[in-house]
Amino acid sequence: MSDLAATPDTSATEARAELLAFAGRPAVADPRPDLIGLERDALAAALAEIGLPKFRAGQIWHWLYHRGVTDFQAMTTLAKPLRGRLAETFRISRPAVVTRQDSVDGTIKWLLRFADGNEAEAVFIPEEDRGTLCVSSQVGCTLTCSFCHTGTQRLVRNLTPAEIVGQVLVALDHLGGYPTSQPDRRLTNIVLMGMGEPLYNFDGVASALRIVMDGEGIALSKRRITLSTSGVVPMMARCGAELGVNLAISLHATTDAVRDELVPINRKWPISELLDACRSYPGLNNARRITFEYVMLAGVNDAPEDARRLVALIDGIPAKINLIPFNPWPGSNYVCSDDDTIERFAQVVLKAGYASPVRTPRGRDILAACGQLKSESARLNRREARAAAAE
Ligand code: SAH
Ligand code: SF4
Repeated sequence: MSDLAATPDTSATEARAELLAFAGRPAVADPRPDLIGLERDALAAALAEIGLPKFRAGQIWHWLYHRGVTDFQAMTTLAKPLRGRLAETFRISRPAVVTRQDSVDGTIKWLLRFADGNEAEAVFIPEEDRGTLCVSSQVGCTLTCSFCHTGTQRLVRNLTPAEIVGQVLVALDHLGGYPTSQPDRRLTNIVLMGMGEPLYNFDGVASALRIVMDGEGIALSKRRITLSTSGVVPMMARCGAELGVNLAISLHATTDAVRDELVPINRKWPISELLDACRSYPGLNNARRITFEYVMLAGVNDAPEDARRLVALIDGIPAKINLIPFNPWPGSNYVCSDDDTIERFAQVVLKAGYASPVRTPRGRDILAACGQLKSESARLNRREARAAAAE
């Protein structure tokens, strides 16, 4: 790369280059602005700066998101000199794939590394009638739900729109997902249920989702996107009004005492406030319901009284309840409820008139199931960040 040659030859830079090379990324960041992650208007504005008219933005958008190209030379509707100029000025990013793991059940987990060395995971879950990509919104999480592996990792930072969209693009790259208009798409749904609390990165997530939902690009509609929140009550109305995606709530308990322990954000916004925000979520009806996620923890939240309290609490909210068998992780202090207990719980919920599918754990053999995601490199990255900052 030409920008490597421009690196000043000092020993500090060499040491840093070695450190960064160790982390498997280029020693010098690519200075060209990234076109990925810019919403349509911002893309048009960036292109206008080099004198391109608006219709070019539409053409380039098509290549970036409908066709998934990563090389300007492949943009054959543009004249060759223009392709060259674009390549000199801009880049088309992808997160680097550090590892790809394939589960025996077809689940695929990618560990992705971003330009600054931070890492996050994305998981593809194929099912008979759909293929769902579980996307991360942050590196780590500031919240510390006691049963969640991600919660043990200190937040490093929010992901940018480019990094969130980048997870979708990597999955499409690997799944043969372009052009996105093909009738038998493998990736049909997106859930924001990976690492992080999406409503604590609302601007980044919203921008990324507007790109993903654009009908002339990746073109996954809001009906096929579900955002899961631990209960950031003040952001829920905006999520509904501005994005209109499906909402999933990590409820997990039926009393504030238990929820305070499991999902500590409950101390800020307790169950009653959370459910009020659910009741006023825009666009709810029987065809469009809120999903309540409920992790089954032996002896903690799985008694028949819990099931009865649960249905009483959500009375009047168009809802489905998703029972999630607890997925253990190294060092976790909980045990998953046994099958009979889960079944009894599910029956109470079902009799009250709510669908209560038990989420089949997917990709457990590769630690890709709910709550098992955690990038082991967080500490290394912090050391690196300090080393870089000390230069
Ligand atoms: N931060 C968001 C989205 C990511 S977590 C949220 O909390 O909603 C996605 C889902 O997996 C949440 O419902 C979460 O509570 C659940 N989860 C976390 N750890 C789990 C574990 N070990 N076993 C089963 N589900 C878990
Ligand atoms: Fe964060 Fe969600 Fe895990 Fe809680 S369950 S620590 S909010 S990722």
